[in-house]
Amino acid sequence: MKKVLLLNLPSDVPCYRILHRAKVGEPNYIWPLVDLICLSGILAEAGFELEHKDFQVDRGASVEKFLAGRRYDAIVAAYNPFDEAADFRQLEEVKRLCPDTDIFLLANHKDRLETGHMEAVLRANPFIKALVYDYAFNNLPELMLNPGTQRLSNVFRLQDGALLGRKEELPQDLRLPRPRHEIFRDPAYFHYDSTGGLMTAAMGSFGCKMQCPFCWGPQLYSRVVTRDPANLADEMAAMEAAGMEEVYFHDYSFGYHRQKLLDFCALVQARGIKLRWFCSSRFDLMSPETIAAMAGAGCRCIEFGLESGNYEVRRRYGKRFSDEQVRLILRECKRHGIHASVFIILGLPEESLEDMKRSVRFVRDAGFDYVSLNILWVEPLTALAGEIKTTDGSVSPLESMKKLNFAHPTVTAGEVQALYRSSMRSIYFSPSFILNQLRNIRSWKRLREITRLALKLALNRTGTGN
Ligand code: SF4
Repeated sequence: MKKVLLLNLPSDVPCYRILHRAKVGEPNYIWPLVDLICLSGILAEAGFELEHKDFQVDRGASVEKFLAGRRYDAIVAAYNPFDEAADFRQLEEVKRLCPDTDIFLLANHKDRLETGHMEAVLRANPFIKALVYDYAFNNLPELMLNPGTQRLSNVFRLQDGALLGRKEELPQDLRLPRPRHEIFRDPAYFHYDSTGGLMTAAMGSFGCKMQCPFCWGPQLYSRVVTRDPANLADEMAAMEAAGMEEVYFHDYSFGYHRQKLLDFCALVQARGIKLRWFCSSRFDLMSPETIAAMAGAGCRCIEFGLESGNYEVRRRYGKRFSDEQVRLILRECKRHGIHASVFIILGLPEESLEDMKRSVRFVRDAGFDYVSLNILWVEPLTALAGEIKTTDGSVSPLESMKKLNFAHPTVTAGEVQALYRSSMRSIYFSPSFILNQLRNIRSWKRLREITRLALKLALNRTGTGN
């Protein structure tokens, strides 16, 4: 039986090498790379023996020591779009240490959105055997078993100097082979709303059809594909059998397909699956009915992007829901014991400093369980990057969401950062927030995270990591 290592490389700063949500910086959550999890099902179904190593959680470990005495037929690694060169250097070293092992790379968003990127990567790094374009739908096993195959689906390699491979869309009603969550067991994984136990990650759907101008996400897939509810419920049962207690759904927006969401929740309840789960969604996708169903199926926290507390501004950023809709969904979450987390962006060019303060007051007074404040960082490959001239190079990706990287028409970068710090303190040091958090402490993990955040705020450091 061929043996494959699924690898998350070390890095100097924590980084999340995920196709659709890559980021760098210190997070207040960490879970296994969902790309590797989905791929594990495809490889295991084809008969490969799998191991997983995550150097992002085992931060002191040495790659060289780990590989010494181990033998793999193949290694599949994700790579960081914000520091590709560093990851290629590490992978080249892996190849030097394991010359007989084939190295495969999982695509990052640049491979999908930048013309010629994938080919350039393969040309510049000939030790990489092939690049997996879609981690959830590909025929990588065929290439691993038959290196000469010409039939490549969502896998690309160079042959005689030309790029070989074919892109294929995810089918509607996608059914994933059962991911092998058992190899991703690690007590270090957690979500900021975790209450303990082992945690894993999953995908219920792929793609996004919204067009928020600061986000490149919708360009990754031509349509939203939601998994077959029974297939997803089977995976939940398998997670539970693997000893997992919590799962984070990494979908851009959980619950796009209302009926599939309700069917999934009904199946989870009917099968008596007791996992606690967390997800991101949108206020306009949720309703009293879906929230009740999700709570019954184990949902414990939903993250919402609001971007601005000012309706006219958030409309422009793809969030066309009224204050009343926001309050309704928040009330329903509270009624059903689901924590609600909200994301706000400071520094939107349409907002004055006073508008930004109003935005912060809106989310603080609404009573969200968590508020994640971010500072607008105009990312390449987004619609916003075509509209706003950035101060190139002055803000590194390491500081993304912590510092403006463009000249705001009315507010200085320093004013936005000062507002960020004072807002964080006013939200997280308010008596009602502290009381709420104390009521919710149900595990040492949670206590540790709250203590860390409090220390961060007290030391005046920016960045929530959400
Ligand atoms: S809802 Fe908006 S921010 Fe979220 S993934 Fe879609 S486009 Fe991006």
